[in-house]
Amino acid sequence: MKKIRVAIDGYSSSGKSTMARRLAAVTGYRYIDSGAMYRAVTLYALDHGMVGEDGTVDEAALVAALPEIHIDFAPAISPEDVQHTLLNGTDVETEIRRLRVSNAVSPVAAIPAVRRALVSLQQAMGGEGGIVMDGRDIGTTVFPDAELKIFVNASAETRAQRRFKEMTDKGSQVSYADVLANVVRRDHIDETREESPLRRADDALDLDNSTMSIEEQDAWLLNAFRAAEKKA
Ligand code: C5P
Repeated sequence: MKKIRVAIDGYSSSGKSTMARRLAAVTGYRYIDSGAMYRAVTLYALDHGMVGEDGTVDEAALVAALPEIHIDFAPAISPEDVQHTLLNGTDVETEIRRLRVSNAVSPVAAIPAVRRALVSLQQAMGGEGGIVMDGRDIGTTVFPDAELKIFVNASAETRAQRRFKEMTDKGSQVSYADVLANVVRRDHIDETREESPLRRADDALDLDNSTMSIEEQDAWLLNAFRAAEKKA
């Protein structure tokens, strides 16, 4: 059977990563979290003083530093583990999930040179097929000819509730109001940016998972996957 490319796009905290990771585990495909790559570049910018107090990014400095920013993934070491994002060889998986990075990431991801660099890295990682990649522009820009495209949505409140639970479960001291504000703000920047905005690909299948359990979501996705694999 031909190994296909699965593009899963959608809004912040819509559960894309969970479903993408679980599909990859069941099918033996490689999972690539493109959001983690934008988060890693953002962490670099924050740690190198390129993000001002008011959130403005020193675009020229960041673009000049791009050749020095190397991003990779280390595989999960157990079935319960997730893959770990590496920034210049250092494991930054925990750091990139903090609100400090979530608050700064959308303006960084709106910079055209940052997008060009990461899109070509993503295309190189997934070129052979056998991958599940999630993000905002995978079905429209990274793999416009992916064999299976999914567009995931859920209400902003449902998504903020999920993210809030995920963060507090990990011991983060955050308020629900701050998490909701971050989700709404990121949606807005992601949808209105000039370079490859968050947009549903015309040939994507829609999934609103507001009231779905993880098991129902897995079954729906595996079904769509089998059908796309058969057609490829
Ligand atoms: O998926 P996640 O929420 O971790 O992504 C973090 C941010 O990275 C998004 O809010 C968006 O600004 C950016 N992003 C993007 N294009 C992608 C993936 C993520 O612009 N393909």
